Parts: sequence; C-alpha cells; structure tokens
Amino acid sequence: MKVGFVGLGQMGSAIAANLVKAGHEVTVYNRSAGKADPLVKLGARKAAQLADACRGEAVITMLADDNAVSDTVWGDGKLLATLPQRAIHVSMSTISVALSKRLTEAHADAGQRYIAAPVFGRPEAAAAAKLFIVPAGDPAAVAACQPLFDAAGQKTVPMGTDPSVANLIKLSGNFLIAAMIESLGEAIALVGKAGVDRKAYVELLTATMFPAPPYRIYGELIAAGKFEPAGFAAPLGHKDVRLTMAAAETLRVPMPIVSLLHDRFLRLLAQGGEKLDWSAIGGLATEDAGSILGA
Ligand code: NAP
Repeated sequence: MKVGFVGLGQMGSAIAANLVKAGHEVTVYNRSAGKADPLVKLGARKAAQLADACRGEAVITMLADDNAVSDTVWGDGKLLATLPQRAIHVSMSTISVALSKRLTEAHADAGQRYIAAPVFGRPEAAAAAKLFIVPAGDPAAVAACQPLFDAAGQKTVPMGTDPSVANLIKLSGNFLIAAMIESLGEAIALVGKAGVDRKAYVELLTATMFPAPPYRIYGELIAAGKFEPAGFAAPLGHKDVRLTMAAAETLRVPMPIVSLLHDRFLRLLAQGGEKLDWSAIGGLATEDAGSILGA
C-alpha cells in the first residue's frame, strides 16, 4: 500500500521498518528531524513536511499522547487538511476515548475515514512484528488496512465499528498490566525481604501458575530492579492510568485500583522516575520495605 507514517518514536520506528520490509511504499515523518534517517536507509521516503506523509491511501499515526495527536491532526497543513477524500487515518497511539470520538467525527465531516488500531506489545515485540493489534471502525477500512496489520503484528482482532471502543479496550488492558506490575512488585518485596531469591521466585511463578508473557517480562525487570532503558516510559504509563480514570468517570464506573495506581505513578514521577520504564512502580514496594531491588 502507499502509506504515510507519522511518529517515529520507539514503537513507530519499529512498525514503520516492518511496513517497509513487507514491501509497502512508506513515507515517514517525525516532528524532530533525524529519526527518519535509518528508515530511509531501509527504503522509506522521508517527508519534508507532515503534508507529504498524508498523500497516500492511508496515514498511520503512532504518537505519544492526546496532545501529540491533536497537534498533528488539526491546523493548516496538518493531517486533516491534507489527507485525500476516502483515505484512511489509522491511529495506533494509546489515546483517550474522547479524542478518538472527536477524530471519528472530524474525519467523517472531511470525507475521510478514521480507524483506531491500538497495539499491545513493547518495542521489542514491535521490532519482531509480534504486536497484537485491535482495530475498530468502518469494516471496509479495517479490511483495507489488514496488509499493514499483517506486516506489523502477529494477530489482529477487530472489535467493531466504533473506533473509540478499541481505545477503551486498550486502556483497560494497560490497566490490567499496571495492576499486575503493582501486585507482583508487592509479592516480590514480600518474599525478597524474607530472603527468597527474587529471580528464582519469578521463574517459579511463570513456570507454574502465571505463564502469561507480562508476568515473565515484568517479573524479570522487577526482580532485577532494571528499569532503564525504558521500553515504555513511566510518563506514558501514568498517561494511560489517567485516561482510564477519565473513561471510568464518564461511564460512572468506580475503579478503586486505578486510583491507587495513579498515586503509585505520582510517587514514582515525583521522585525522579521520568526516564524509567513504567514497571518501576513494581519496585516501589521493595523500597517501601527498606530493601534494595536486585540485591
Ligand atoms: P515515544 O518513543 O516517546 O515516541 C513518541 C512519538 O510522539 C515521537 O515520535 C515524538 O516525536 C512524538 N510526539 C510527541 N509529542 C508530539 C507533538 N506534540 N507533536 C508531534 N509529535 C509528537 O513513545 P512510544 O513508546 O513509541 O509510544 C507511542 C504510543 O504508543 C503512545 O501512545 C504509547 O502509549 C503507545 N504504546 C507504547 C508501547 C511501548 O511499549 N512503548 C506499547 C503499546 C503502545 P519527537 O521524536 O519529536 O519527540
């Protein structure tokens, strides 16, 4: 497909590379210059300006947050003003339910199509084309983008025609992972303070009752106290907890554990955790217990 790709951060760079490798004609753009260069070496075209990435059948955005997406979509020469009629905006970022609804309306008013396609999986999974992709929106538009999803992920699970539902599902999934990180961190602090080897404990859990990948991936990081370099940065994790809280408030769904997680992220960020992986909240219980992680 002839496709633009906007947002070449940790996730975007890896996904765009796989699209190029799969033979798609990819034009890449990033706010800060320089990040496009490795992709150009692979065969991508570099857009001199954002509008140059918005002239194909579809444009994918993989940006940090609501502000980044809004800054990219609205304004002179921006995505909404330049995308051709019937072309598809595929939003892979983890953004709010409210912004996804606004995007659905704005693109429909402009005669364009909009689908949300948030992803599960960290940058390593993105590089290995092993993401899980959850698209929602016009079924014809989702089907048209399937070759892109095939190049980027191991499985695509469409979740209906309302794009914002995919964003809600993505937020709910990250809520579950964050809750798991917190509870696993508490369990590791407990047995660790009693002298149990933390790494062996995580191996026991993941080889028996908890074989799901998030327990293994985050268990190893927490046991080792290794939160740098960040694969998914703590401020982005904090953002997802805030967006989950906002969705819960709109739907009037009490979620006491989200409130607790919000406080955990605030504690982490207040004490210099900006550059750490979000799994660093899993190290807080050990600190609170007066122990040292990875010791
Ligand atoms: P990242 O490495 O921090 O990249 C963020 C991207 O957004 C960069 O291209 C950045 O451009 C751009 N950006 C930020 N603010 C902008 C603005 N105001 N205007 C234009 N561009 C802006 O983040 P990431 O880890 O790739 O995550 C991207 C999205 O995927 C997020 O929504 C995240 O929640 C989601 N996600 C991440 C993971 C993960 O494990 N990392 C997994 C699943 C989903 P610059 O280079 O100019 O700063």
